[in-house]
Formats: sequence, C-alpha cells, structure tokens
Amino acid sequence: MRPCLFLDRDGVINVAAEPGCYIESWEQFQLIPQVVDWIRLCNELGLLVIVVTNQRGVALGRMTENGLGEIHRMMIAELERLGARVDDVFYCPHHEGECDCRKPRTGMVREAARKWDIDLTMSILVGDSESDRSVARQLGMRFVPVVDGRVKGVEVPKSSSVARTAA
Ligand SMILES: [Mg+2]
Ligand SMILES: [Zn+2]
Repeated sequence: MRPCLFLDRDGVINVAAEPGCYIESWEQFQLIPQVVDWIRLCNELGLLVIVVTNQRGVALGRMTENGLGEIHRMMIAELERLGARVDDVFYCPHHEGECDCRKPRTGMVREAARKWDIDLTMSILVGDSESDRSVARQLGMRFVPVVDGRVKGVEVPKSSSVARTAA
C-alpha cells in the first residue's frame, strides 16, 4: 500500500471561481504556483498525487464532461511541463445528494484508494473547504487547509499517534 497526496482542485491547484460560478474552460484556469512545488516534492518521494474535485457545473449544464476532461488534460500537461506529475484525477459531475462521490461524501477518495492501493492513514488531503475537511475526518486522514496557496496547518485525526503540527 502506498501513501498519497490528495489535492482538491478549485482553490488548491487553480484559483477558484466566484461562488455560483464554475471554471468552464482552460482559458479560465489560473494555476496557483505553490502547488507545483508540493507536487514535485511528492513525486520525488514516490508518493501518489491524485486530484479529487466536485464539478457540479456538469450536472448544471455549464460544461460537458468532455469539456471538463479537456480542462484536466490541459492541467496535467501544464503541470507536467513545470515538472510536476499528477497520477490521476477523480471528479464528481453530479448534483448534490444524488451520488456517493460528491464531497463531503467519500466515494472519490475511496475509489482512488481501491484503484491505487492507497494507505489512507498515511495520506494527506489538501483542500480549501469544509467538505474537504469532512472527507479527511471521515476517512481518518490528515487534512491540510490551504488559503491562497498557503498551508495553514496540518490537522491530524484524533485517533492518530502522529503529533499535531502547525504551519
Ligand atoms: Mg476547493
Ligand atoms: Zn458524484
């Protein structure tokens, strides 16, 4: 089993859209530069790097699943160009309450863990929202809140013996 760096997308990898708005095309995708270095370090250590992102804009008809896939292909290519490898992307295209994958539900992380044989207790979820924190808590993972590309701390699950650290 392997550890993994799980990354939320909007607000972590790219500047989030305004509330109620969505990143609907690559032209709107604005990379947050700090994430490149985090990914590179994890690559160097042999950790998996996997994106888990809610994209309800698909369910709302603001973009197609193909369009979203194109944004993710461009994102992976741009990060690759900068020396940072993303191993996989999981997204939820659904409305709230109709699936098991939309965060704060845990389906995406659990599916990734099955596919890649990930040890969640050794993994980290980096996110900018309460739903990210909730996923990490439910699965006994460390949660790293970020704001504008800055790590605000490391929240360790209560049951863990790992010491709490502050940024
Ligand atoms: Mg986010
Ligand atoms: Zn879903």
